[in-house]
This record gives sequence, structure tokens and C-alpha cells, in this order.
Amino acid sequence: MLSTVYDVIILGGGPAGFTAGIYAIRSGHKTLCIAGIKWGGQLMLTTLVENYPGYAEGIQGPDLMVNMRKQTERLGVDILNTDFTQADFTTKPFKVTADGKVYEGKSVIITTGADSIWLNVPGEIQLRGKGVSTCATCDAFFFRGKDVVVVGGGDSAMEEALFLSNVCKSVTIIHRRDAFRASKAMQDRVFAEPKIKVLWNKVVTKYVGTEHVTAVMIKDTQTVKEEEFKTDGVFVAIGHKPNTDKFKGIELDVKGYVVRKEVSDSTGMLKLRSATSVPGVFVGGDVHDYRYRQAVTAAGFGCMAALDADTWLKEQKG
Ligand code: NAP
Repeated sequence: MLSTVYDVIILGGGPAGFTAGIYAIRSGHKTLCIAGIKWGGQLMLTTLVENYPGYAEGIQGPDLMVNMRKQTERLGVDILNTDFTQADFTTKPFKVTADGKVYEGKSVIITTGADSIWLNVPGEIQLRGKGVSTCATCDAFFFRGKDVVVVGGGDSAMEEALFLSNVCKSVTIIHRRDAFRASKAMQDRVFAEPKIKVLWNKVVTKYVGTEHVTAVMIKDTQTVKEEEFKTDGVFVAIGHKPNTDKFKGIELDVKGYVVRKEVSDSTGMLKLRSATSVPGVFVGGDVHDYRYRQAVTAAGFGCMAALDADTWLKEQKG
């Protein structure tokens, strides 16, 4: 059964999606946001957020998302708490299937985010937000003067370690091999920072702690010897997985992120920043951004995508 055709369908219910919704509906577009069963995104997994402007005392991550959702709903966006099973960009209008229904959209804004990859070892779920984090930019402040661990060997791990070294007493990078895959420039900066030490050929096998993490168990990949390593915090930086596996007919990069295709006007000025390989489909937030990954940047990208969708929809009307 086909439902009404929306002007804008937003896929995802995090900061990018809700911000896109606010802008799309205020531009006068009939807007549907398919927010997902686990709507709210990464902030639902965090505690105190101190770097989202407008909250002088900070705000709990889930509370911030509830506020964004209420604001989006109040302005008139239809919100579905369901996961879509496919988004088909090969037909016009675009077709999104959710709960056995097909929703049609003249334009679509993709804001499905990217999930942090976790170590999946005992204690991780229980200690998330209690010393275990995937975001130094968000949480470093809570570890001032403390000893922390970063797990990983890519650019993200280097960046997290360098960021943490500004506030922590010591930072120990635990890496499973004897070489980093991070760019040379980032490695050089890490090796030049006296507060950062590296434990090579080690994997974390378990988190230790009840109310808060106090240590990790680490295993040497060569000797297989296991020992306890005391720490006040653990930052897991082993990559992210963009949520793009239900899309049909759109260009993704080798890591699965949605590729942006900027559109300029006849004078060469940037017109649509958040366009994709499919005209009428726009992207915002972590699903296309492996660089910044902040709630406030995701919200900004969501705003840009909705303004771009508005420009594009008006052009289609002629
Ligand atoms: P990444 O490049 O995929 O690196 C992931 C790291 O985590 C690798 O060192 C990997 O080890 C390790 N790892 C993966 N699974 C693990 C596990 N289960 N246990 C222990 N270690 C594990 O991911 P990323 O660092 O998030 O970077 C993603 C992309 O963003 C890259 O293209 C990167 O260049 C880019 N990026 C760029 C910047 C920048 O330019 N400033 C900053 C951040 C990210 P192995 O090496 O052994 O595989």
C-alpha cells in the first residue's frame, strides 16, 4: 500500500536528522523523519554533554535528544520510531520501506549516522559512560589529571591520544600490532608527545571495575601472557561503521560512507554542499563525516542538507 508522497523524507533520528526536520518543515515542506527504533543516535549512549552550546550547565545526552525530538515534532514533522528496511534511490519519487509500508519522497536526506565499533569484551557494556568512551572530544574533560588508555592504531586513535594528552596525566595507547596504520604525520606528533606511551602487540581482553573502570586486562599477542593494567579511563578508537547497508542506488566510498557531490551554479559558486550521486538525495552528519563526528557538527550538516533540499525542490517546481 502506498502512502502520501512527502516532499522530504529524513532517514535517521539523531542531531542531524532532527535538525534537518526542523529546517525542512519550516521551509514549508511536508516532512517525514524515519527516526528508527533506537532513535537519538550516539548521544543516547553518553551522559553529561558539556560541548553543545546553549546549555550553561551541560545536559545529559538522552535529555538533549528528547528535546530535539520534541522540537521537531512540535513544528509538525511526522516521526516514525521504526527502522526502514530499504531506501531505493533508483526510482522517482524515492521509495523507503518501513514496517511493510512504502513511503514516497520527492527528496531524501540521509542522516543515518555511524556506529562506533566496540571491542566486545567483558565489562564493556556495563562500564560505558563509567570510564569507557569512544569520544575524547566529548569526555576528556572528565579525565583531567588522570591516567587513561586509548585502544587502536589508526588516525582516530592518534587524534584521541593527542587530545587527551592536553588534559590527562598520562595516555597509554594499546595496539594489537607492532606498527600503527595512522598517517606518518599523526604518528610523528604522537611519538613527540612525552605524555603518550605505547604498548605494542597487546589486546584488551576485559574491563575491570564496577562503579567505574579501574583497570583493563591486556594480553600480549606474542607471549599470550595476560596482566592487569591500571587506568582511570579507556577510549576505544578502532573505527566506525556508517549505517548505509540498506541503500539502493547511491555512491558510497570504500569504507561505506555516503559520497558527497557538491553542485555549483553557473558562476562557479557552491550551490548544494550536501548533494550526493543521486539528484534530490542529500546527506548530513556522521554517515558522511568521519572527521568531526560531533553532535553540533551533525546538527549543522543536517541544517545544510535541509536548506539544500529546499533549494533543489524549488528548482524542480521551476
Ligand atoms: P581505522 O583507520 O580503520 O583504524 C582502526 C584501528 O583500530 C587500526 O589500527 C586497527 O588495527 C585497530 N582495530 C580494529 N579492530 C580492532 C580490534 N577489534 N581490537 C583492537 N584493535 C582494532 O579507523 P580510524 O582510525 O577511525 O580512521 C577511519 C578513517 O578516518 C581513516 O581513513 C582515517 O585516515 C580517517 N581519519 C582521519 C583523521 C585525520 O585526518 N585527522 C582523523 C581520524 C580519522 P590494525 O591496524 O591492526 O588493523
